[in-house]
Amino acid sequence: MRDPNGKPQFAKRSLGQNFLTDVNYIRKIIDAVDPRPEDTIVEIGPGRGALTEHQVESGAAVIAIELDRDLSRMLINRFGNGRFQLLETNVLNLDFRSLWFSQPANAGGAYRKLVANLPYYISTAILQRLAAQREVFSEMVLMFQKEVVDRICAEPGNSDRGFLTVIAEASFEIQKLFNVPPTAFSPRPKVWSSVVRLIPKPKSDLDDEVFVSLVSEAFGQKRKTIFNNLKRTYPDAARRIGLSGIDPKRRAETISLDEWEALFRSFVRS
Ligand code: SAM
Repeated sequence: MRDPNGKPQFAKRSLGQNFLTDVNYIRKIIDAVDPRPEDTIVEIGPGRGALTEHQVESGAAVIAIELDRDLSRMLINRFGNGRFQLLETNVLNLDFRSLWFSQPANAGGAYRKLVANLPYYISTAILQRLAAQREVFSEMVLMFQKEVVDRICAEPGNSDRGFLTVIAEASFEIQKLFNVPPTAFSPRPKVWSSVVRLIPKPKSDLDDEVFVSLVSEAFGQKRKTIFNNLKRTYPDAARRIGLSGIDPKRRAETISLDEWEALFRSFVRS
């Protein structure tokens, strides 16, 4: 791979650059996104354009967000003439709502999809941001390290279940689609990846800082009971957990989304 000046370009580990090269998996992801001319698709980390190419070809409007300056220049050279827009920025500093409403063509309510093959180092932060701003999108097709997808799909009682699982469940319908082997990338990562579809749920009263901090505190030390974790922040934790009808001796990883909702209600009651 060469930059616009003809110099060879190497993948940057610090930016989690593992580029998809296996055409079968590229096709499977594109089939999941199903890009159409009426879509506006936000792509995070387009890299060398493996997924971008098919979205642009479909006639969809594509807004790509890439932090790497060398790749950004290459992408503009390659796709800059069509319905393609590149933002050279850190996605973690981006406000998706203002991005969306700054697009005059979007006022008509076209489909707003998001696609990303995400580096591991930002997966938790980006998922939390996408959950908080999910009303901007109709659906998201995301590839993460498999371990992250196992975590967000973990059922109550599974030790993979954690803070991120509950925030994801409260915010999205989650469909795990398929796994992707290291051989599908260049350079090859050490671990498998997985692709998920996230369909945003409507905003609700769980979109509240108290809910986020309650879940975060309750998972504080995973081997402890919810009471032992929560009593550090909430002096009246025993009474409030009692109001919810949930056994205070349970561990956070055993609690279902409905039960989290009941716990939350008992903690915001006066
Ligand atoms: N989508 C491409 C593919 O599938 O071949 C590249 C995927 S690669 C795993 C991740 C991409 O995200 C890289 O192009 C990297 O430069 C970009 N990236 C990493 N951190 C970023 C950030 N904070 N904001 C925007 N892009 C980022």
